Amino acid sequence: MENLTNILTIKDLLSRHGFSFSKALGQNFLINPSVCPRMAEFCGVDSGVGVIEVGPGFGVLTHELCKRADKVISIELDKRLMPVLAETMAEHDNFKVINEDVLKVDLHKLIEDEFKGMKGVVCANLPYYITYPVIMKVLEDKLPIEAITVMVQKEAAQRLCAKVGTRDSSAITVAVNYYSEPNLLFHVSSGSFMPAPKVDSAVIKLDVSGEPRAKCKNEKMFFKVVKAAFSQRRKTVLNSISSGMGIAKADVEQALNDSGVSLTARAEQLELSDFAKIADSIYERGNKDA
Ligand code: SAM
Repeated sequence: MENLTNILTIKDLLSRHGFSFSKALGQNFLINPSVCPRMAEFCGVDSGVGVIEVGPGFGVLTHELCKRADKVISIELDKRLMPVLAETMAEHDNFKVINEDVLKVDLHKLIEDEFKGMKGVVCANLPYYITYPVIMKVLEDKLPIEAITVMVQKEAAQRLCAKVGTRDSSAITVAVNYYSEPNLLFHVSSGSFMPAPKVDSAVIKLDVSGEPRAKCKNEKMFFKVVKAAFSQRRKTVLNSISSGMGIAKADVEQALNDSGVSLTARAEQLELSDFAKIADSIYERGNKDA
């Protein structure tokens, strides 16, 4: 297939397939030729590696992944793109597309069926409207993969890669840091897309090859505490956990004391291990399903 970042090639595909970009599906396609090869290099594809891609669009990133990986499975919701991909990806026999909503796909089964004996990675230019749900699904499912390399909006990248315990951190920062080691790789200007979105983007990589980065007795409780702590981020964690989880203030006070956390601390000041200790204390004190 001709260069898929070339405007004339894209216009030709648009007109021959009667395709128009859907804003609702986050369809901003990459036209900057340097971005996809860089993403493919950074994401760790090689022979012996299987890639899950979310939202191939016309296949511009898919093409770079197929050149390097043993197998690429792309999940695309938009049925109108099936005939386009059949044309643009015809030269790659290591490519397969699944026409489904990524949030409904059983990714464990997909990896088991498709990537036998291969290492797995996820690489995608994500549709912005489901950035966090897709990332959390991949992390929470604890897939047997090495890394997740994705393009997201710049603000989301900053939030996802913020340091836990700083003002930029939030519940999603803590969640992502619990499961992975996040790194911001490079920025991508809005002019690199067609149509151009209003904001710039960035490529991030989440290394998921290790164990969770905090030890806790019950993950569900850990995430409940994190969510409640950040639900009213201007308040102290004492107040936000108490009201967010419906636990008496005296009990939360006890949990904070057990954990060595100041009663006046706010969520953005806590480390991963602090959240884990607070969750363990609440859990052990009998609030097993608070
Ligand atoms: N990979 C292409 C590129 O870089 O030019 C397209 C990226 S575009 C930002 C996002 C893609 O995700 C679109 O092709 C869109 O149709 C697809 N998409 C949107 N929602 C989806 C969903 N729930 N499941 C799978 N794909 C989805």
